Amino acid sequence: MQSISRRGLVLSAAAAGAAFGLDGTLEIISPAHAQKADMMEKGFSKFKVGDATVTTVYDGIWEKAHDAGFIKNASLDETKSALKAVGHTDDFVPIPFTITVVEMGGKTIMFDSGTGGQTGGPKAGLLAKQNLAKAGIDAAKISTIVVTHFHGDHIFGLMAKDTNAQTFPNAEIVLPEAEYKFWADEGVLAKLDPGRQGLAKRVQATFPTWKNVKQVADGKDAIAGVRAINSNGHTPGHTSYLIGSGANQLIISGDITNIPALFVKNPEWQAVFDQDAALAVKSRRAIFDQAIADKAVVTGYHWGLPGAGTIQKDGNGYALVPVTSM
Ligand SMILES: [Zn+2]
Repeated sequence: MQSISRRGLVLSAAAAGAAFGLDGTLEIISPAHAQKADMMEKGFSKFKVGDATVTTVYDGIWEKAHDAGFIKNASLDETKSALKAVGHTDDFVPIPFTITVVEMGGKTIMFDSGTGGQTGGPKAGLLAKQNLAKAGIDAAKISTIVVTHFHGDHIFGLMAKDTNAQTFPNAEIVLPEAEYKFWADEGVLAKLDPGRQGLAKRVQATFPTWKNVKQVADGKDAIAGVRAINSNGHTPGHTSYLIGSGANQLIISGDITNIPALFVKNPEWQAVFDQDAALAVKSRRAIFDQAIADKAVVTGYHWGLPGAGTIQKDGNGYALVPVTSM
């Protein structure tokens, strides 16, 4: 069973607007914000979904400078006021990195791998440096690493900075088939702008030569009990994962949205990171609607801590109701 923060539930529900005579859509309030700062300091959150123990591990934050092109269909002013509305600074866009680790059936399964301190600025890289250990997870005991997509902030943690040597040589690594097909194709270089060619080259220099790698197709199991769900758009093979059934479902959503203040609230907003923006919006809504229907707990890679919650409708968008940590 998931447990839900009573305060989060009350204040994020659309009903809160009616209760307090407001017109809308409170998502986070400042005491909750103070709690969040404590969580980042701690470095992880833990909660249960059914028999699985879920740990979200904080890999740090990218304080991204504002840039008018960041969101195609929202102005800088709209972006700043959406940040302010939930108590974020509007000096920059705060983009955290949060890795989901699931312990179930005697296995430790990690979803994506963190930045490896190789992208996302000087405040990223805390997973390897300290927070995995702080969360009580022995890196050597991670049995499987399941990848959502091949952006650097999700896969560089698998590769040593200068040598590309494997950081987790003893883990099985599961990659989405469609994502692999796109990035590992030598012909892709000609299709990518120069800024993304380096990433394709790095993928091609690593995964195809690694022996502990396998691929998973949409709708199939990455490993027993972890089903791949097509959520393409952010990248051509972006994939989310579903664990559990009935009343106890967990969706590892990956990057179906970037930060909640902007993109859970405004699912139509199109971040420059979304390769096929229209498809990304469609996938975002499909995953969130599935999560609402199934009362699933969802984790998001750029959701900070606890980095997980249930989803509610909120106007034309959605609200994230954070889980309560153990
Ligand atoms: Zn990302």
